[in-house]
Parts: sequence; structure tokens; C-alpha cells
Amino acid sequence: MNHAYQHIAIIGAGESGMGAAYLASMLGVKAFLSEFGRLSEEDKSSLEKWGVAYEEGGHSLERIMKAEAIIKSPGIKHTTPVILAIKESGIPLMGEVDWAARHTNAVIIAVTGSNGKTTTATLCHHIIKEERDVVLAGNIGLSLARVLAHRIESGASDPEVAVLEVSSYQLDDAYLFQPHISILTNITPDHLDRYDYDLSKYARSKFQLLDFTPETGHFIYCDDDAISNEFMQKWHEKKIIKPRLHAFGCDEPASPHRVTALTNNEITITLNNEVMTIEELALQGKHNMYNSMAAGLGSKLLQIRKDTIRKQLTSFDALEHRLESVLNISGVEYINDSKATNINATYYALECQQKPVVWILGGVDKGNDYSELLQLVQYKVKAIVALGTDNSKIIEAFSGVVEIVETNSMSQAVRKAARLAKKGDAVLLSPCCASFDLFENYEDRGNQFKLSVRNL
Ligand code: ADP
Repeated sequence: MNHAYQHIAIIGAGESGMGAAYLASMLGVKAFLSEFGRLSEEDKSSLEKWGVAYEEGGHSLERIMKAEAIIKSPGIKHTTPVILAIKESGIPLMGEVDWAARHTNAVIIAVTGSNGKTTTATLCHHIIKEERDVVLAGNIGLSLARVLAHRIESGASDPEVAVLEVSSYQLDDAYLFQPHISILTNITPDHLDRYDYDLSKYARSKFQLLDFTPETGHFIYCDDDAISNEFMQKWHEKKIIKPRLHAFGCDEPASPHRVTALTNNEITITLNNEVMTIEELALQGKHNMYNSMAAGLGSKLLQIRKDTIRKQLTSFDALEHRLESVLNISGVEYINDSKATNINATYYALECQQKPVVWILGGVDKGNDYSELLQLVQYKVKAIVALGTDNSKIIEAFSGVVEIVETNSMSQAVRKAARLAKKGDAVLLSPCCASFDLFENYEDRGNQFKLSVRNL
């Protein structure tokens, strides 16, 4: 175990901070948690139970600086005064994933990308669990620190494998993180606000995963993805690539690393002169073919048996809020894709629809260029239900293309969509936007959609 600090400070509660506090307690590491906002009563009682000191309503730098290392939550920006002061002090500062990963000998599979992280990480876990003791953690809503702490508390052994979904914010906070297998699903504009609206900065942040993957490791990427490809080529020219590279894709191979391809709905993985094929994938849609290819390849690199990979990729239920089929009412299928918060995710949702679509979209726009969807909308969409406090961009982009109605509540949107849909159509919620104008988060939006559908 490297860098086993005996005294840490934790900045920010949330899942990462609370997980770090729990793990510190289980490791016998002295910890102090500092939260700028308010702590919930539940968090306070957990911290007290774990013997972790805490403060709320501000940060006392003097107390924080007494620690040997400081763990930050991914949500706290690097430009906030407390982080700037810590950086100035020279005390090691790192994210929870980085710190927690130092306390396990598990083989780490890290999954990052703009879209498909949760699906791919969950697919990897679904396959690997058949043959190994594996945990699923990270950006998925359950911190690695919490998972490891729980294992220690319950007397369970260290997991053999940890599949981690990592956001670019978590990568920005990592230093000694060393995944054995890294998967970069794709890079498309999202969260650009955090990267000065500079796509190359955002892409560089995702590509940090390549830096972290050691020489003995494997880096998996999609060579259909233009931005990923361009980056890989630049890296090649600099000859600083260390891990083994493996690419997956459906189009003509665009890189020399292509080992996983798709022909006629059949995935082929070719590794070390051995070929395996997978048919009848459980998850439909081109984007899910990519996710299945990435997860199949990652599992194969872990020496999981071919039969297991095949069986698990054909027996996976769609995740909630991701092209989740909700109900069929009077011949109309209702589909919840509330997690689609950017153009790229919605693009694939529309692309895989076989029925005429009544499309519900809208919310907080993160700089969408709707023209990328225009052709698909012409082919697939019969009517649009705009659902947001400001629908002007949607109206501007699609007026004259299809019928558009405006709404400002989910129940109204679903009722209007139901009126516009005929037998044989699909009503698809794939918002392309963040949810914060009318909903708490994407889960709330998806749940309200499902409730409204059930109430029809
Ligand atoms: P993430 O964890 O990166 O947000 P999810 O797996 O939760 O990704 O999926 C988020 C949204 O993106 C869903 O609408 C889903 O249908 C869509 N999606 C999933 N995989 C991909 C992919 N490989 N490319 C584009 N969109 C995808």
C-alpha cells in the first residue's frame, strides 16, 4: 500500500466525502471533514459513529492544513479559495477515487467518456461477476471508498476486481491512479462550461485516463469517434503511449488498433489470434453495440471465458432512465430516456427508433446545436412536445419541420404526447438537456414521466 497517510482532511461531504470519511474510520486513519454548506442530520450521526471530526458552514484552513493529505470531492472546483489555498500550501491534494484506490489490490477497470459510462461499467460488472469477486463503484452514485469501507467493516476480503465509472472531474483530481484496463467510450461536447467552452481542454481531461494506465495495462477506445481518433493520432506521433491499445467500432476501421468490430449485428473480438463472436445482444441501438463491444473486450482482457461474456451480454436488462421501455398503451410505446442530457445521447435514441416518434425534449440547454439532429427528426419524428421553461431554441430549430407543442409540466407533456400519438407510434422522452429548470435531477424527470404515463 503506497502513501498510507495517517491523518487526512476531507473537503466536501456528498457521496465521495462521506465515503472517504467511512474508509478513513475503517482504516484507523485520523480524519477531519469540512463542509462549506450544511450537513444533514444523517451525515452528522454517521460521522460521529465513525469517530470522524467535522465542521459545517465554512472551512477552517488552519485545521485542514494540519492533515498529511487532503481529499476533495469532485464537485468542488479547483478555483475555489479553499482549494487554491491548499495547493499553495503544498500539502498533497487528491480526489476520493485516487485515495481510495490506494487502499485496494483489486484489478481496476476504469470507464470514462461523454456518454455510455454507466451502461458500459454496469455491463462490465454484469459479465465479470460471474467469475470474479467484483465491485462496481465511482461516479455511479456509490463511492469506491464507501464500498471498500463496507467490505472492511463486514469482514469481507479485498475484491479481486473493481469496475469504476470515472467522470472527467474525478480524473482531474487523480495523481497516482493506475487502472489496469481503461475504457474511453467516446468524446462529445458536454459539461463544456467547466472547460472554458474549449473542446480540446475537455478531451484532454478525458484522455488523462491514458496517462494513468500503466505500461502493463490496456487502453480501450472507439475509433469511430472522430475526436478520440484525432487525439490518439497525436499521442502516437509523440510516442508517449505506454499501455496496449485496443479499438472498437462499427465503421471502417480508422486505426491500427481495431480488434472489435460489428457486422450484421454480430460482434467480433479478435485478441491474440483468437476470435470470438457475440450475437443477440440484450441491449438494442447502435450506442449499446458500442457499449457491449467495450465491455466484452474489457472482460476478455481479464480472461473471462467467451461463453460467460456471450451469456451475460444477451441477458442484461436496460438500465432505468436509459431507453427504458415503460408501457404500451393503446398500441403506443412509451420510452424513458431521461438520462439523455446532450445531443449525442439523443441522437442514438432517435436513430434506433423503428416507429414514428412523438418526441418530448427540452430543459436546460448546455450549448446544443440542434442542426445535428435535423435529418433524423425529418425521418423519425412526427411531432415534438417541448418541455422546458425556455423552449425558444427548440422552436427555432424545428419549426416548419414537424408540429411543435409547448408545455411546462411533465403530466401536461405526456398528455399532449398521448393525444398526438397513434397506434404503432412511440412516445420518447429523450430531453437533450439538463433537468434543473423543472425537475430536481434526471431521475426525478424520468420518474415523473413514468408516473404520468401510468396515470394516462
Ligand atoms: P453516462 O454514464 O456516460 O451518462 P449512460 O450509460 O448513463 O451514460 O447513458 C446516458 C445516455 O446516453 C442515455 O440516454 C443513453 O441511452 C445514452 N448512451 C448510452 N451509451 C451511449 C453511447 N455509447 N453513445 C452515445 N449515447 C449513449
